[in-house]
Amino acid sequence: MPPEPAIADPSTSDNPSVVLERFRDLEGKVRQTRPKEDLGLLRRAFDFAAERHRLQKRKSGEPFMVHPLEVAHTLADMRMDVVSLATGLLHDVVEDTTATVAEVEKEFGKEVAHCVDGVTKLSKLDFYSPEARQAESFRKMLLAMVTDIRVIVVKLADRLHNIRTLEHLPPEKRERISRETLEIYAPIALRLGMGKIRGELEDLAFAYLDPPAFADLSLQLESKRHANEEFLEEIKKEVAAKLREAEVPAQVEGRIKRRYSIYQKLKRQHCTVDEVYDLLALRIITDSVKNCYAALGVIHNHWRPVPGRIKDFIAMPRPNLYQSLHTSVISHSGQPFEVQIRTEEMHRLAEEGIAAHWKYKEGHKGPMMDEQRMAWLRQLVEWQRDIQDPSDFLSTLKIDLYPEEAYTFTPQGKVIILPRDASPIDFAYAIHTEVGHTCVGAKVNGRIVPLKSKLRNGDIVEILTQAGHTPSRDWLSVVKTSRARNKIKHWININQREKALEIGSKLLEKEARRAGLSLSKVPPETMERVAHDYGCGKMEDLMAALGYGKYSARQVVGKLAPAAGEVVELPKGPSRPHPVSGDEVLSVKGVDDLLVYRAGCCNPIKGEPIVGYVTRGKGVAVHSKTCPNVENLMYEAERRIEVEWAKSEEATYPVRLTLHTDDRPGLLNDVTSILSNDNTNITSVEASTDTARSAMIEMTLEVQNMKQLERIVGAMRRIPGVRDVERVHKL
Ligand code: MN
Repeated sequence: MPPEPAIADPSTSDNPSVVLERFRDLEGKVRQTRPKEDLGLLRRAFDFAAERHRLQKRKSGEPFMVHPLEVAHTLADMRMDVVSLATGLLHDVVEDTTATVAEVEKEFGKEVAHCVDGVTKLSKLDFYSPEARQAESFRKMLLAMVTDIRVIVVKLADRLHNIRTLEHLPPEKRERISRETLEIYAPIALRLGMGKIRGELEDLAFAYLDPPAFADLSLQLESKRHANEEFLEEIKKEVAAKLREAEVPAQVEGRIKRRYSIYQKLKRQHCTVDEVYDLLALRIITDSVKNCYAALGVIHNHWRPVPGRIKDFIAMPRPNLYQSLHTSVISHSGQPFEVQIRTEEMHRLAEEGIAAHWKYKEGHKGPMMDEQRMAWLRQLVEWQRDIQDPSDFLSTLKIDLYPEEAYTFTPQGKVIILPRDASPIDFAYAIHTEVGHTCVGAKVNGRIVPLKSKLRNGDIVEILTQAGHTPSRDWLSVVKTSRARNKIKHWININQREKALEIGSKLLEKEARRAGLSLSKVPPETMERVAHDYGCGKMEDLMAALGYGKYSARQVVGKLAPAAGEVVELPKGPSRPHPVSGDEVLSVKGVDDLLVYRAGCCNPIKGEPIVGYVTRGKGVAVHSKTCPNVENLMYEAERRIEVEWAKSEEATYPVRLTLHTDDRPGLLNDVTSILSNDNTNITSVEASTDTARSAMIEMTLEVQNMKQLERIVGAMRRIPGVRDVERVHKL
């Protein structure tokens, strides 16, 4: 039986001395159970919390401090360490007062601060958010966030006290907390093997969540309570006597199954209370595994076992490491009852679970131990249900049990579930398409990170956006969610088409002007018909096709012109470039911009004279006017298009230089100091010498424009020993 919760008497609890008294009790408990602990830390945590919560009251009218104190008491009853107790006392100061985690760390050290921070984060999780609609994923998420088991234990103790004092809250809140308790916290307690806390959480939540069912069940149990208790008392004596006879040392306890468990069984098996085999149960606690089996033999010798009800959880522990022998037998009066047999240690693990585990390992503290504990916890998190084969269970212990998802958070605490290795770009698109399109950077846990970095469980992500910024095709190789991928592709498709339309119409106009045709005089039906000839539904589609370089603008003009009733002379063969008029000029941004890209053969940089060439299906390639390819390409004059550098664009371009120099010491240093004086970034540099006492330096720089490059090359040429500086166009 769990000890009765000690709750301060509301009539006197306005008096802070009640709070103080309760703290003295806590100190007394710790002195008894963990005499070596630092009571000074406990005292300071109490003083700090009591001071911060000084003016706050609970809904019941009690001083708020009663709550953290009761949480700490529960933890002390579990014999948790003083860090857990201090966390219990401080668990609401960050959430509910002006105190910060930094302050807690300053006062109480990293460990306590880390745990308080953990509990605070958990309380910010919104169970009712759409992402968390599935209780299962919420539980996973919750556990995935936890890096210290004590955070969970404190959270469970917190929830236990909340639900014990639920009657003071308004009905909607009662229902919400009860549901959350049943769906989230009780299962977590179960998975962590904490049977005692789980039982109390379930029964209390059940009473609030389904009052009629609870009342009905209570009534049924109450009517038989007397008979049941009498039966248990008698059978207990009988079992104890039989065990004594067989010389099996044992402690025998009787219990009536908890109400929520009965309720679930009734629902699952569609039976009545009388048909529940384990409504009444005896628990035999003995000293060794051998005696567990001996006790089982004694029981089966005297009472007839119910077939199929014998379960050996000693040989095959449950996934939460629960161990026990279970059997159901029929009494001589025909009343079935269950018998659970286990050792002292198994019993402690069944009641306290992970908390018991924590205690056993104390004295071996250190990061290694913590990691092992976390590994163990995560094994439990696998939520294995009934495993039939023990080797199955063992094999699950070996596999990688980290969830496939990364649970990340907005600064406001909203949960964003992403696949493993997702990037801040995925995160941005998960928030909103516009946020995705305009994202330029991200902060993870307060630090700026590259957009292609990988997000991890528990990361708090803030997306930096810039109005007018647009997605980059490179993002497609970074993103992991289909949502982000689709949004980026969609954006590119639309914008590529717009760009193609723009290019197409410019090409068409240029060609028309050259042929002396005014496009505005071409009747729309003709436009339509010519478009159809090319298999395009509308003129717009044809223009886009021209922009993509699918068809020749000259030929299209050739088809439009006669129809417009005009005589047109089509220029033949290579022709000199057409004089530029303003509206024919495409601006080119620094980075490859979908349909307009810098040609890889010459990699022109800003400020350099350039020329555009409409490729077949790949948009407009921008070449340096001095690029040898240009002359070869430009015989198709109609494919040529005027381009110019965009005015406002602030970008850097990689430029490769080769320097031929004398082999003299300090020369490389002279070269690099020119670059640093000019604030120019070097991305790579390599120097080599040959036998003729000459050297070669190859380097890649990032420059903003032609002027800067000319300045740098000029300065390099003036360095004594530099014979030549050569720009290598191909990167
Ligand atoms: Mn709390």
